[in-house]
Amino acid sequence: MTSLPDWLQGADGAVMPDAPLAPYVWFRVGGAAQWLFMPKTPEDLAQVLRTKPADVPLTVLGVGSNVLVRDGGIRGLVVRLGSGFNGIAVGDDHTLRAGAAVPDAMVAKTAAKAGIAGLEFFCGIPGTVGGACVMNAGCYGAETCDVFVEAEALTPDGQTVRLSPEDMGFSYRRSQAASRGLIFVAATFKGRADTPANIQARMDEISARRAESQPIREKTGGSTFKNPDGHKSWQLIDQAGWRGRGVGGAKFSDLHANFLINTGTATAADLEATGEQARRQVKDQTGVELHWEIKRLGEPMPVSHTVSS
Ligand SMILES: Cc1cc2nc3c(=O)[nH]c(=O)nc-3n(C[C@H](O)[C@H](O)[C@H](O)COP(=O)(O)OP(=O)(O)OC[C@H]3O[C@@H](n4cnc5c(N)ncnc54)[C@H](O)[C@@H]3O)c2cc1C
Repeated sequence: MTSLPDWLQGADGAVMPDAPLAPYVWFRVGGAAQWLFMPKTPEDLAQVLRTKPADVPLTVLGVGSNVLVRDGGIRGLVVRLGSGFNGIAVGDDHTLRAGAAVPDAMVAKTAAKAGIAGLEFFCGIPGTVGGACVMNAGCYGAETCDVFVEAEALTPDGQTVRLSPEDMGFSYRRSQAASRGLIFVAATFKGRADTPANIQARMDEISARRAESQPIREKTGGSTFKNPDGHKSWQLIDQAGWRGRGVGGAKFSDLHANFLINTGTATAADLEATGEQARRQVKDQTGVELHWEIKRLGEPMPVSHTVSS
């Protein structure tokens, strides 16, 4: 059992050593966090970051809809944002500010009620505002960078910073700022005026399209690979014969060939091996390199060696 280090003992919020992470991620697989911390407020989090030794690794989780936690778990501190990061408020000039733990669907719903158009696409993404800032999440022709005004984040040593769209360095399913190890605590988005009824009609359309084309009720992690320039990942995986196929309890979805699924008995190793084997075969057959969109976190299960006498 891992004990709590000094710098975590006075932390405000829930702190759990050796905490299984499977319940916190969509795939429902993976090992434990060495220390899982759920701060109640940004101040609690900043305080812990200021005292945490720099060599202790730091990982942040949203609702785990785009991550694969490996079976050996995650060393160091894993942060999952709690209730103090759930605020949402409509501002002037068709803006909306939301805490990093607010579900994207809640952003879309609140914007629709307030007559703010342009944020409808958020209803199609099952993550949080923090995850959307990191992944530049988007669907059906719109993405986070189109409506982003500003984010507030903490640096790994607990300082507060504000980030403009330029600071974020958004590109396809990526923000360069995230690679500096920032923890997003809130973001402001801006849309334009329309009637709640029109906005709701577009959201209904997005929800219907998703239900038809994505395995939204499965244990999955969203798109496994980014679309390479000029190609669709699902088509490449399909042509390589991986639709509905996989290793152990993992397979690519029959409905959407770029979605990996835990059929109920998969390990994280099964899911990763399925992705890697498909990736290699696509490369061999077409020369096209697939790049993981899913963030793979932590360590594989250590292999046990039996020594024969
Ligand atoms: C059924 C399904 C459908 C999906 N459809 C889409 C889609 O249409 N379009 C799309 O873009 N995505 C889609 N996704 C993927 C996913 O929902 C998005 O990438 C989402 O933005 C991830 O948010 P999250 O809160 O779940 O983040 P997580 O999956 O928990 O984390 C993703 C990354 O962000 C980091 N992170 C999370 N929160 C923070 C924070 N506050 N500060 C710093 N880093 C943080 C994590 O460390 C990790 O690197 C889908 C996923 C599923 C399961």
